[in-house]
Amino acid sequence: MARVYNFSAGPAVLPEEVLKEAADEMLDYNGTGMSVMEMSHRSKPYEEIITTAEKDIRDLMNIPDNYKVLFLQGGASLQFAMIPMNLMKNKVADYIVTGSWSKKAWQEAGIFGKANKIASSEDKAFSYIPDCSDLPISEDADYVYICENETIHGTKFKTLPDTKGKILVSDMSSCFLSEPVDVTKYGLIYGGVQKNVGPAGVVIVIIREDLITEDVLPGTPTMMKYKIHADNGSLYNTPPAYGIYICGKVFKWIKKTGGLEGMKKRNEEKAKILYDFLDSSRLFKGTVDKKDRSLMNVPFITGNEETDAEFIKKATAAGFVNLKGHRSVGGMRASVYNAMPVEGIQKLVEFMAAFEKEKLNE
Ligand SMILES: *Cc1c(COP(=O)(O)O)cnc(C)c1O
Repeated sequence: MARVYNFSAGPAVLPEEVLKEAADEMLDYNGTGMSVMEMSHRSKPYEEIITTAEKDIRDLMNIPDNYKVLFLQGGASLQFAMIPMNLMKNKVADYIVTGSWSKKAWQEAGIFGKANKIASSEDKAFSYIPDCSDLPISEDADYVYICENETIHGTKFKTLPDTKGKILVSDMSSCFLSEPVDVTKYGLIYGGVQKNVGPAGVVIVIIREDLITEDVLPGTPTMMKYKIHADNGSLYNTPPAYGIYICGKVFKWIKKTGGLEGMKKRNEEKAKILYDFLDSSRLFKGTVDKKDRSLMNVPFITGNEETDAEFIKKATAAGFVNLKGHRSVGGMRASVYNAMPVEGIQKLVEFMAAFEKEKLNE
């Protein structure tokens, strides 16, 4: 068996231990004689799986009792619509556009009401986070929206925007469970799990209880109301049952390996190895303002497309896969989520240094 170092932005690397455990339980989960995939979502064993998963994520993130945790479907992208449908009581919301994902969310919200773009970093190809300390927050805004870690561009909010008392909504897909979070600062946090937590198909929504109401936009389908899922413990219909089971195992793995404090420490160490190399390299360079760099997604370039392509090809052959930048921006991107081992990054940096030496001697 040969495992590669998978630097994919998502679906992405998962802890090997979790995959092995799931493999062991594939044919017979805990003496039930069946796979979790074959199990009723109303059965006792499944009830225990989803209840334990919720309890563990609550522990990990220190989620207060007045927040609900929902395990939903449709990926992060369905939340681009679900959020305005449920929260746009005044039909006004303010969006901070720092990359492709927040831009999509902003555009989607425009279908449902007035979505104001109150700040943007598009002028410099989304390579930084704008100053959000004194934004023109709309008086009647139902919420202020951010994408906390822009997966494609590699930026991260290091301080949250001053929302001037408005509810903060955050897409945390690509930094979910990568560091401790003060949940009380948000009205709603969500993340597609395929970046850092589990298999695609599950999106986790953490929402303050008072925001879950019947008062949604007219025409909102039942399946798109937070209330129906909250009232039914994420079991209104058949949930993405197997995906939730894997997320639950990842929660346990994070707990066992130091919780979110531990993850943060490791992620900082890991990212530092790569950023230090980029900052000293004569061939490669990072594309993001240093102060706004993501710990999870690290875009870089050589400045020459042919050299980029040659690097990606050689890296792939050497077992460092999925380093190609997003098709919209080019260059390279190394996504170094929780489950990327530190040696994966050390070895990548060694490989980059060797490539650099070879190129500069040509
Ligand atoms: C990947 C990603 C999305 C989209 O996720 P889907 O599950 O494919 O809809 C949205 N936001 C961010 C920050 C992402 O990284």
